[in-house]
Amino acid sequence: MRVAIAGAGLAGLSCAKYLTDAGHTPIVLESRDVLGGLVAAWKDSDGDWYETGLHAFFGAYPNMLQLLKELGIEDRLQWKEHTLIFNQPDKPGTLSRFDVPDIPSPFNVIASILRNKDMLTWEQKIRFAIGLLPAVVRGQKYVEDMDKYSFLEWLKRQGVDERVTSDVFIAACKALTFINPDEVSATILLTALNRFLQERYGSKIAFLDGSPTERLCSPIVDYITERGGEVRLTAPLKEILLNADGTVKGYLIRGLNGAEDEVFTADVYVSAMSVDPMKVMLPNSWKQMEFFKKLEGLEGVPVINLHLWFDRKLTEIDHLLFSRSPLLSVYADMSNTCREYANPNRSMLELVLAPAKDWIAKSDQEIVAATIAELEKLFPDHFGGDNPATLLKSHVVKTPRSVYKATPGRQQYRPAQVTPIVNFYLAGSYTMQRYLGSMEGAVLSGKLTAQAISEALPVANSSNLQMLTRPPATNAATA
Ligand SMILES: Cc1cc2nc3c(=O)[nH]c(=O)nc-3n(C[C@H](O)[C@H](O)[C@H](O)COP(=O)(O)OP(=O)(O)OC[C@H]3O[C@@H](n4cnc5c(N)ncnc54)[C@H](O)[C@@H]3O)c2cc1C
Repeated sequence: MRVAIAGAGLAGLSCAKYLTDAGHTPIVLESRDVLGGLVAAWKDSDGDWYETGLHAFFGAYPNMLQLLKELGIEDRLQWKEHTLIFNQPDKPGTLSRFDVPDIPSPFNVIASILRNKDMLTWEQKIRFAIGLLPAVVRGQKYVEDMDKYSFLEWLKRQGVDERVTSDVFIAACKALTFINPDEVSATILLTALNRFLQERYGSKIAFLDGSPTERLCSPIVDYITERGGEVRLTAPLKEILLNADGTVKGYLIRGLNGAEDEVFTADVYVSAMSVDPMKVMLPNSWKQMEFFKKLEGLEGVPVINLHLWFDRKLTEIDHLLFSRSPLLSVYADMSNTCREYANPNRSMLELVLAPAKDWIAKSDQEIVAATIAELEKLFPDHFGGDNPATLLKSHVVKTPRSVYKATPGRQQYRPAQVTPIVNFYLAGSYTMQRYLGSMEGAVLSGKLTAQAISEALPVANSSNLQMLTRPPATNAATA
């Protein structure tokens, strides 16, 4: 069965991969000339890579790890020490670590918190542990119910004081969602904490050994094409064409450089576009449907990714760092963390600037200057004295609408992969799955979509489209 998939981000590629496994023929249609969507990367004229986002992989990413294994590329993940490292703004240039010992969960994470003496007092640790108890005891149902509160409101309700918020969780919220604790839904942080508490290596971090486009997306494309599927770049979906009964008749693909538009037909259609273009693309008759109306409740959040190349080594740390800077979120010296970007003599810092709403419209020069000012606090030895580090070059990648903005109440707007339109499905990290707006969420959503298509239309029956039946759309995919 031919399945047309709009979007070659991780969700679209994962969907295509699992469809080929089920014996179908996916054709992925991507608007841009680069694979990967939010993990896309480019090589500059010096041969240096720059990326849409600094991407950390976690031990608690079972579907991503399974996918890498199935592709035979799991050795491309460079696992780091099991620790979380934070800068200490009140002691410039110093770090505080949560070292996770190699003992069963949740004792490993609890031990890491108890052993950290810099960031939380004993009283704060105990209060936070008590506050977290309902999430641990009552599980995911409780976590989902907390979507009505911001994480800050939730902390206050649990009697956890302001300092805990400012010390640890601003960094965590910014890293996970690119927004601050007063804006982010409590469900997000509680979901992540639950994963980390339940899985021994859940909070262990890995970096890919090169650019996600080349080292992660290309092997998925090879896998798909070797099995009869196709991935077309510069093939933007312009319009979803409908039959009289409201089902999809075809995808109208915009002709580029003066070429004519093309009608692309398939047996089944998937949107693996992010939520913002999907909303724009909705046919008028679908806009009235409750299922699609809900998409209005979701929108992408702005974020900026910077790359700064320096004339010297600023640090030897081979890990992700939580900056705890008001301007920045996480960062890493990619010359240490990533094999393909390695350089023994010069640092390349990749930094995420978030929240980015006040910065997204500013010039690259302003953004770089503000970031360098922050680096004076993170690396005072290299920026404060007579011989400051020299910036050799920079790249700034702005994404005005990235993953869905995870403010309170969003869970109810996240759609299932199965839609009320019999031959149309959704994939994307914004769709309902339990890994939120992440690479793992994208891969899982694509897999769920492929499963739903294969269940609705097993290959043996694929010539008989009348067999397609559709249960009422639910969020059952969360399970
Ligand atoms: C700065 C940054 C840092 C991040 N850090 C992490 C991290 O450390 N760990 C983690 O797990 N996740 C991280 N993420 C999130 C992660 O990248 C995303 O959740 C995931 O990649 C989303 O994949 P997706 O396929 O759902 O959507 P997208 O990647 O948005 O893919 C959608 C695709 O659809 C295409 N498209 C759009 N319109 C059309 C059209 N009309 N026709 C055809 N194609 C179209 C787009 O070009 C794109 O390729 C980060 C994201 C950013 C931006």
